[in-house]
Amino acid sequence: MLFVRLGRLLHNMSVPLALPRHGGIIRRSMASDPATTETTRFDLLVIGGGSGGLAGARRASELGASTAVIESHKLGGTCVNVGCVPKKVMWNAAVHAEYLHDHSDYGFDVGNVRFSWEALKAKRDAYVGHLNRIYRNNLDKAKIQTIHGHARFTNDPEPTVEVNGKKYTAAHILIATGGQPTVLTDDEVPGGSLGVTSDGFFELETLPKRSVIVGAGYIAVEMAGILSTLGSKTSLIIRQTGVLRNFDSFISTNCTKELQNSGVDLWKNSEVKSVSKTDKGLEVTLVTKDPEKKNNEEKISTIQEVDCLLWAIGRQPNTNGLNIGEMGLDTDERGHIIVDEFQNTSRPGVYAVGDVCGKALLTPVAIAAGRKLAHRLFEGKKDSKLDYSSIPTVVFSHPPIGTVGLTEEEAIKLRGKENVKIYKTSFTPMYHAITSRKSLCIMKLVCEGKEEKVVGLHMQGLGCDEMLQGFALAIKMGATKADFDKTVAIHPTSSEEFVTMR
Ligand SMILES: Cc1cc2nc3c(=O)[nH]c(=O)nc-3n(C[C@H](O)[C@H](O)[C@H](O)COP(=O)(O)OP(=O)(O)OC[C@H]3O[C@@H](n4cnc5c(N)ncnc54)[C@H](O)[C@@H]3O)c2cc1C
Repeated sequence: MLFVRLGRLLHNMSVPLALPRHGGIIRRSMASDPATTETTRFDLLVIGGGSGGLAGARRASELGASTAVIESHKLGGTCVNVGCVPKKVMWNAAVHAEYLHDHSDYGFDVGNVRFSWEALKAKRDAYVGHLNRIYRNNLDKAKIQTIHGHARFTNDPEPTVEVNGKKYTAAHILIATGGQPTVLTDDEVPGGSLGVTSDGFFELETLPKRSVIVGAGYIAVEMAGILSTLGSKTSLIIRQTGVLRNFDSFISTNCTKELQNSGVDLWKNSEVKSVSKTDKGLEVTLVTKDPEKKNNEEKISTIQEVDCLLWAIGRQPNTNGLNIGEMGLDTDERGHIIVDEFQNTSRPGVYAVGDVCGKALLTPVAIAAGRKLAHRLFEGKKDSKLDYSSIPTVVFSHPPIGTVGLTEEEAIKLRGKENVKIYKTSFTPMYHAITSRKSLCIMKLVCEGKEEKVVGLHMQGLGCDEMLQGFALAIKMGATKADFDKTVAIHPTSSEEFVTMR
């Protein structure tokens, strides 16, 4: 490997620094901590072995860069350990539970079906462990050094990171430290710390009999759906009247209805006031304010014998403890690292990708940004950057949601109502023709201008999760409504509705 050890020679040596933003050259001592005498140098030093960090590191290594990844917990980051992967396993299990209701309609007598959360968790954890090992092997095979521990920038003049008392530096340092669930302190909500977050959800050893989920974003919707479908009596507490409020209103309204239809007990206009522990579980006290009522009257209610209170109220960037303030990196008011379109931070030679930047918090986004950056830095592709427009995303609700591009509301705001044409439909998928359980499929196309360029596509229904990727490709290529119409339908499917809309 190409890394060079800068030993005692550099101790206390005065070195020129990159130009600070206000100009001028500063000379400072190279080693601020006399106990730490050596600095190991790489071409690329990545902080965070999650989706973005690993993707950037591996691509850089393929392109010939000497690379190291620093990870404080488990390789794979949020997605592999407490995000997409274990969540999808749980959603798959919930889909089994859902379909069980339809078995007799399709002629199957499956008798008394029993479900073991314990067996499912054991298999899921084994799969995640297997992925952790694959990630480690992949790094070893690529000759990327894995450094285990918490990274913190030092006060050295050249951007330098310290892990377990050892110092590391590189021509390029990539921050890919992701985020973590927001937790409430007992000062904010008395007893709030008795709840868990999505991280804690993956540690549950048994299926809770009674669950309360707080939040209206996609993680709250997914967790409520999984718990409820697998048989936990589930309440979802939302501050306003609908979930997924930043999605197209067609989706937000339908998803709110589907949650209720599937048996989730929805508390609108409500917030948790306090939580206490009793010998039968948690007691969650709620305050509900109906904005329609003029006197602003508050109603207080309690949900008792709660086994699992899950806060899904947002995520925060992992920037605390990195000492980036000393480095002069610009952050927004929530601590996200501010980057330009090329993932450059305000400090030359230091970059950031993924959730820590607070934009489009999705695994494929972090991966793509990490890889594009590697091509720019180590292959000389100076224009290599991620295009953040029209990023498709799926919510693993019941039924799933697929969405890409502008919502109707965004398109009207950006282009004016007269330039936006909407096509929409809702129907019962053929799967439900002979089932007593029903769920709708809803679809919307948002088109713009005379040529009716499709700038948004939104859907919720059976199979929408797997339907989206191909349509996202068409939209990225600039497809118009006429292109959709020219495409011959596939029958009988739900997706054919998108090419036959009038
Ligand atoms: C419940 C849940 C479900 C999700 N489902 C999906 C989904 O279905 N599809 C999807 O695309 N996305 C999903 N996501 C989002 C996805 O997981 C993230 O967008 C993605 O993991 C971000 O990647 P990242 O590289 O930015 O950060 P992460 O994957 O979070 O990796 C950051 C890593 O940095 C490490 N780290 C942090 N600070 C330090 C430090 N100082 N020193 C050393 N190491 C450090 C952390 O331990 C972590 O391993 C989900 C997230 C959650 C929470």
